[in-house]
Amino acid sequence: MHDHSDHSHMSDIEARVRALETVLTEKGYIDPAAVDAIIQTYETEIGPRNGAHVVAKAWSDPDYRAWLEEDATAAIHSLGYVSRQGEHMQAVFNGPGQHHLVVCTLCSCYPWSVLGLPPVWYKSPPFRSRAVIDPRGVLADFGLVLPEGTAVTVHDSTAEMRYLVVPERPEGTEGWSEEALAGLVNRDSMIGTALADEPAEHAQEGAR
Ligand code: FE
Repeated sequence: MHDHSDHSHMSDIEARVRALETVLTEKGYIDPAAVDAIIQTYETEIGPRNGAHVVAKAWSDPDYRAWLEEDATAAIHSLGYVSRQGEHMQAVFNGPGQHHLVVCTLCSCYPWSVLGLPPVWYKSPPFRSRAVIDPRGVLADFGLVLPEGTAVTVHDSTAEMRYLVVPERPEGTEGWSEEALAGLVNRDSMIGTALADEPAEHAQEGAR
């Protein structure tokens, strides 16, 4: 069953936030550009750092990885990231020959506890419909061309079940600290529209 019942709730909150923002802007209390910058920060920086922590720990600690595979809800909760709406989490692991992509075909169910706010494109009708019909085409649009023969599995999120993609650990990161590894885990790599960053882009952090 594809239940998106929490979304009426979310849009209600969104509508109220928007109304409040309009009033505060009109009264000169807030600058909409500043609000956009804050939202952008939550989308791309603060929120996804939780997921990056989970991924880096799974890369570094085989026991944690096994727990994440078996019971992602509990393994994620153990790091202090709690799903306020009570949904379950499943972690899906990229590997040689296997790539995972997450979508919500009906609305925008998203793993808030580990990724923060969903990006605008995640909620867009073209992404939601095409991800299922032509996942490779969508990935190509994101600049991600997978090796021939790599299977792409698409996971359709619901209010009860949300997915976290664990990207492949990049080569050349042996001996990196968990913190340095987390720096390679970008938001889109945990949705499946990108890979983790290459270590060369983060050489100084790895060397620290
Ligand atoms: Fe949804």
